Amino acid sequence: MNNLNFNQTGLPPVTKEQAKVIMPGSTIGILGGGQLGRMTAIAGKNMGYRFVTLEPTADCPCAQVADGQVVGAYNDPEALAEFAKRSDVVTYEFENVQSEAAAQLAAYTYVPQGSELLYTTQHRLREKRAVQNAGVPVTPFQAVSTLEDLKNAIEVFGLPIVLKTTTGGYDGKGQVIIRQSSQIEETFAQFATASRMVAEKEPLIAEKFIPFEHELSVIVARNPNGDTRTFPISRNIHQHHILHLSIVPSGFSADVEERAKQIAIKIADALQLVGLVAVELFLTADGSLYVNELAPRPHNSGHYTQDACVTSQFEQHVRAVCNLPLGDSTLLSPVVMVNLLGQHLPKLFDHWAKGELSDDNFGFAFKLHLYGKEEAKHGRKMGHLNLIGNDLDKMIQWITSSDIWEE
Ligand code: AMP
Repeated sequence: MNNLNFNQTGLPPVTKEQAKVIMPGSTIGILGGGQLGRMTAIAGKNMGYRFVTLEPTADCPCAQVADGQVVGAYNDPEALAEFAKRSDVVTYEFENVQSEAAAQLAAYTYVPQGSELLYTTQHRLREKRAVQNAGVPVTPFQAVSTLEDLKNAIEVFGLPIVLKTTTGGYDGKGQVIIRQSSQIEETFAQFATASRMVAEKEPLIAEKFIPFEHELSVIVARNPNGDTRTFPISRNIHQHHILHLSIVPSGFSADVEERAKQIAIKIADALQLVGLVAVELFLTADGSLYVNELAPRPHNSGHYTQDACVTSQFEQHVRAVCNLPLGDSTLLSPVVMVNLLGQHLPKLFDHWAKGELSDDNFGFAFKLHLYGKEEAKHGRKMGHLNLIGNDLDKMIQWITSSDIWEE
């Protein structure tokens, strides 16, 4: 049990003194049963841990590989209690865990990550303030509750300007770009109504539009001892606001890579992180870096580590939560991770079944990861391919010309 004070901002992460070592054979509870939980469980089972997951849908991606599942809502007190009692330690695979749920779990079991960081990253304003307080460059922002606030922000940041909801936005949802002054009133009125601002009295956030050249991410792990390890920086390419490719090595200068790495470490230390945080950044033409977003968990842009690094992000997460020494994150091979959405599967399966996706045909290796989701809906993340080889251009060229990702 965590003998910690639970306050308004959630449960703090454990300190070095409070931390326990969780040994193989113990059961790790994962709150959330999606692909991130599944891949964490696969990595952890290789290390001898057992897993239980809490998720409302039976036979979810994580439950298919875990030792057990509690089928129930994330905020159902009975389900939470049963899940906690079956777990020696609890972690989470998604961000929208309510603080009350974390507090309830902590009453029964060990929750080394706490819930403070979840509380911070659940809200864009809190998140950006935390990044600012860590002393690293963040996309300039202002809170917006009224049209006047928005006009003020436009005076400071100019046009275009990005207006986002503070909660609930992901994969490009919950944001709008205002490009012309004639659009200000109408867009604000529409967006404020459609978002939670009016209904839930949550402010919006206005951000300076960053004319970035590239998007990149750094995943950093930290254990309760305060040891940190970063993974190689990945260059990320999105399509329709969903991650499409992660390319590693990034091809950025050593100086850019070092600055990005130091930003991630500063954030991890400032947040007293236990586990992983993915730091998403913009890189501009003059070499400036701005933090856009944090994700306090394994991240899609780190899936390449499964086949290309000595230690994967999932194993690293297990090590950090269990207070074990962090693993070597060295890159073993250049890699391109490409996401597989619902609409990509039929053609992929066709090529796969015909034996066409063979290393012999292309000179690079195909490592397929699928998440066991039943329904291949358009836009739904079903899996990913890690292409492993020496020639990044060749791998990217193949993806670009393949009919699998045509739409
Ligand atoms: P987000 O939901 O904050 O991750 O934003 C989704 C995408 O919108 C980012 O990956 C960027 O491509 C774009 N975007 C978000 N914020 C900004 C910004 N301040 N300036 C320029 N583009 C942005």
